[in-house]
Amino acid sequence: MKFTKTDKKQVLKFIAIGDSVTKNLTIYEYGEDIIAVDFGIGFPEGDDHGVDYIVPDMTYLLENSHKVKGLFISHAHADHFAAVPHLLQQLNVPIYANRLTQEYIKLQFNEKQFKNLKNETQFHLFNASTEPIQLGAFKVSAFNVNHSVPGSLGIAIDTPEGTVLHLADYKIDESPVIDSVIDLKKIEEYGNKGVLCMASDCLGSKTPGFVGTESSLNETFPDLFRQFPNEQLFITTISSNISRMHQIIGAAIDAGRKVVPVGRSIDQSIKIARSLGYLPYGEDAFLDVKKAFEKNQKDIVYMIAGCFGQQGSSLSRVSTGEHARVTLNPGGIVIFSSEPNPPGVDVDVEVVIDNVILRGGEVIDHRDRDDLHVSGHGHKDDLLKVASLAKPKYFIPIGGSINHIHSYTKMVEKIGVKQHQVFELLEGDVVEFSDGDARKGKRLEINDILIDGKSLDPIVVKDREKLATDGLFAVIVPVSSETRKVMGKVDVVTRGFVYVKESKELMGKSKDLVNKILNKSGNTVTDWSNVKHKIEKDLQKFLKKETGRHPLVMAHSIFV
Ligand SMILES: [Zn+2]
Repeated sequence: MKFTKTDKKQVLKFIAIGDSVTKNLTIYEYGEDIIAVDFGIGFPEGDDHGVDYIVPDMTYLLENSHKVKGLFISHAHADHFAAVPHLLQQLNVPIYANRLTQEYIKLQFNEKQFKNLKNETQFHLFNASTEPIQLGAFKVSAFNVNHSVPGSLGIAIDTPEGTVLHLADYKIDESPVIDSVIDLKKIEEYGNKGVLCMASDCLGSKTPGFVGTESSLNETFPDLFRQFPNEQLFITTISSNISRMHQIIGAAIDAGRKVVPVGRSIDQSIKIARSLGYLPYGEDAFLDVKKAFEKNQKDIVYMIAGCFGQQGSSLSRVSTGEHARVTLNPGGIVIFSSEPNPPGVDVDVEVVIDNVILRGGEVIDHRDRDDLHVSGHGHKDDLLKVASLAKPKYFIPIGGSINHIHSYTKMVEKIGVKQHQVFELLEGDVVEFSDGDARKGKRLEINDILIDGKSLDPIVVKDREKLATDGLFAVIVPVSSETRKVMGKVDVVTRGFVYVKESKELMGKSKDLVNKILNKSGNTVTDWSNVKHKIEKDLQKFLKKETGRHPLVMAHSIFV
């Protein structure tokens, strides 16, 4: 019997792989076709035990690799694109993105581990001016939205089940500094034609009003330069906020100061933004950091990386006097033009601020004046306006914590949306659309990939956790290299576990336990890995019982 399309009912699947705020990845599947939107990195929460960043689980994409037609990137923020090279190493999928995002991804190919991707990757230009792209069952087009990086896109996906609007991070900015205004008309057009579902940013769903325009900061920097004509000045902002850099550089030129980029991310962003025409300034607007110390400090302004207090960042090193080229002078002023309470890193920011003050510097941040930063995420009125224009049948709030997601539901309920029309998703959740209806599908199990330079096994992270909280307990067994007989006394070494002098008894008992195991094997170690395993397992149990703690236990044999 020949199957036709109607024999087996296809459904449209929306699969949320990424977690709430960062590490964005959404998969759309219909029959034999898959497209993905965004592939960004996440950041470890709390004690990271050396994990640099997190890559979304790509199992589903790899298992269904024959279906995957393309990856679309909404905008040039690391939590939306920076995991792309990790995917490309395993799956050569075409990338659809604007020029700015493409340039940032290509920068990552300079890293040794991704060098091979340079020539292999197929980039396709994707922005509000490009023609719709047909990939299997999906027809994908883009329209402009506003955000804290220029060229951010809303994505419209026509599917056999209806149109889905995917609006990752966005806001309404009626007078952006270097960007086009969000295409509300286009959103309204889609709304009038009928939208099945809208996935919408929800990070600002708890904050009333409109978020406001980036150009409300136009006077901030000229004012600061006037206020401090003779001081050494540092301004720190996130390197992807090109319109902010535009405002700072413009004001610096007017004030007769040259801009000194400090930090790789700032340096690279300026280079890319200049090459794409976002920053219309010549070479003479800038000064190399190597020459900055020769200059009278009132003639320059440092634009420095590290606004989130990241350890090892340029600002962090300047604040502790450890930067090789830049020194904070007494009375020097550090201005934070950045997110006031960045989630997860507010403590790090305070450390940097304290260090600046301890070195005799001054800090100006959001507590001193409220015109140093505007968020790139729409507040309630931005989100409601877009929702009321798009009029989707179903809503999926994305890009926020559970709290933000739920607040989005409450918010749209006020404009008549019923609870069953909003899907509050956790990572791995699936929504299935068929015949105009939607329901939750079977949830996928998600396992993040942890990166510290290279992929990191979860066991390594567990070991680091144990080391950090309960220390190390090492057993050394001397063994004859010829006869494999145990020769001499078993030794025990601990670090960060207990104070040895006060725990002689515990050490003694531990050695007894090890000796007992060795006795059982006739004091001969022919199969060390077996004996090692037994020692480590029994000791872990014993130490847990005696002390209630879980140190990292290691047994080692040394040849004597
Ligand atoms: Zn963003």
